[in-house]
Amino acid sequence: MVSLNKSFLYGICFASLTWVVSLYLFFQLTKSKSTFTKVPTPHSWSVKNNIVDPFLKYTKNNAGPSQTYVNSPELVKKLQPVFGSSKGSDPYEEELANLGLVRDNNDLKIKDEGYKMHAYNVLISNRLSLNRDIPDTRNKLCRKIKYEQKLPNASIIICFYNEHFHTLLRTIHSILNRTPAHLLEEIILVNDQSDIPYLHQDLDEYFKKNSLTKVRLFKPEKREGLIRARLFGARRAQGKVLVFLDSHVEVNVGWIEPLLSRIKEKQSNVVMPIIDIIKADTFAYSSSPLVRGGFNWGLHFKWENLPKGTLKRKEDFVKPIKSPTMAGGLFAIDRGYFIDMGEYDAGMNIWGGENLEISFRIWMCGGSIEIMPCSRVGHVFRSRRPYNSPDGQDTMLFNSLRVAYVWMDDYKEHFLNQRKDAKNVDYGDISSRLQLRKELKCHDFDWYLKNVYPELPLPTDDEEQLKKRWSAIEQDKYQPWHSRRRNYVAQYQIKLAGTDLCIQTAKDVRTKGSGLVLRPCKKSKNQTWYETDKNELVLAQLLCLQAGKTSPILYKCHEMGGDQEWRHKGGQKSPIYNLAAGTCLGVNKKAVNATVVMKLCGDPEPSFLNWDIIV
Ligand code: UDP
Ligand code: MN
Repeated sequence: MVSLNKSFLYGICFASLTWVVSLYLFFQLTKSKSTFTKVPTPHSWSVKNNIVDPFLKYTKNNAGPSQTYVNSPELVKKLQPVFGSSKGSDPYEEELANLGLVRDNNDLKIKDEGYKMHAYNVLISNRLSLNRDIPDTRNKLCRKIKYEQKLPNASIIICFYNEHFHTLLRTIHSILNRTPAHLLEEIILVNDQSDIPYLHQDLDEYFKKNSLTKVRLFKPEKREGLIRARLFGARRAQGKVLVFLDSHVEVNVGWIEPLLSRIKEKQSNVVMPIIDIIKADTFAYSSSPLVRGGFNWGLHFKWENLPKGTLKRKEDFVKPIKSPTMAGGLFAIDRGYFIDMGEYDAGMNIWGGENLEISFRIWMCGGSIEIMPCSRVGHVFRSRRPYNSPDGQDTMLFNSLRVAYVWMDDYKEHFLNQRKDAKNVDYGDISSRLQLRKELKCHDFDWYLKNVYPELPLPTDDEEQLKKRWSAIEQDKYQPWHSRRRNYVAQYQIKLAGTDLCIQTAKDVRTKGSGLVLRPCKKSKNQTWYETDKNELVLAQLLCLQAGKTSPILYKCHEMGGDQEWRHKGGQKSPIYNLAAGTCLGVNKKAVNATVVMKLCGDPEPSFLNWDIIV
């Protein structure tokens, strides 16, 4: 459970290298993929849907295109940026670009159904190695820190509902690869009654076949939701420390030592890694900045900048950072402490609110919550949650009400004022949680706000108080994503090869959502594209070209790559490829007013796919 905050994702990019270097590295990377783990074709695909696992195809055919492909994976490799040496490109990102290529209708089907079920690109996930390398995003100082050999061991608890087979396996492999064996007691997987056919059997078989004896797979009798599913797992755990993770993550180098050693120092330290970003559309892994957890009066979790002065010296970047709340999905806690503190609120359903509940409880009842900057775990951030609660309940509201009535005293009124719709909503029996609060002799919520989160603005604040709270928090100093300026690297028209027709907006250059059409080439702003250093194509420096399922549109630039990230090689007769879509810009006929559409890059009629870039 990790909430997504857009600003948190902005402008996070890799240092770039020149194209030449990147191409070299790209081939190196591609070669190294021959060490892919052999993954059995899961039943859910080969038997049920009669889809051959593309992962196996891809690994077998690394050396070159297979005859079964309509398209060649070599194609995207050839899509060089316009000005080869002046502008860099990350080899790692380029590799992912290649992996997203939709080669035929079968790929398209896998991708579409994957998005429906999982809200991320399973085509890429299927083709990526289960043991892929990810960038070490830690501060350099982290590598110098020596941790004790004798740390408490951990049980890792992962509950999942309808997780994608390969993505879940990549989660497990990353843990097995990057956790010292003596620190890993077990990985407890709780299948929360997923309804993907054969998923459970496929997983079970895979763990047996590969002798992954540390992985223990369970399935409760009914769908429990993530809170009770985690409890179910925690109660079966034997390690000294519990580490909760989502089912679509990849842990980074040295991720567990900082967590375990901080808990060893003090049992009541509840600790979290920095949650790096795995893009849902491309599976690119990138670093997250140092931020902490907060919330607003709608009881939504949010990321926020650190209090001023938190990062004064170099060493501060690797020290534990106190956080008023946790995002929820990824954290470590001493098992005995978890139990003594009342585990989770088992009355909560499916998803939401439990992260604030445990945050308030830990702080108010004597513990602390900290971020360990040297521990990094990537998480696939999705733009929607692809499931509901079985009975249609708004579980976020139900659970939040429980949080408010158990922990927030009079401050709950701020929440209730915001959520007028919550007034008469039933929130179940909370008596045992109130009892727990009494037994643990916890501070009240007023204490929490004054001592742990004095920066939180209250609805009753006057202007001066608001200013004071605002000024206690670091503004943009360490947050590069706010200061992003768009850097243009090229300006051109895009002409269909062999014609005098150029791509232009169907409507006005300022109209969001407008489609694109072919019109006679003419030097005008509605045919003038500006390419940025992030490979966006911005028409008249206003709106970005954005890939859709069937056709591209113009849309507000979101600066997060994916559907607004394009590749072409410049010059004459170049395909124009979109990273998230895995397809290319094309038309169905060579005519004035023909609509620009997304086509398979290997379409048998290349004359509708090749573009001249006219600088
Ligand atoms: N999950 C679960 N049962 C549910 C809903 C979610 O086991 O009824 C799992 C889900 O598979 C994931 C974790 O709980 O591993 C957190 O859910 P999700 O990733 O959807 O939340 P987000 O990260 O979007 O907040
Ligand atoms: Mn998640």
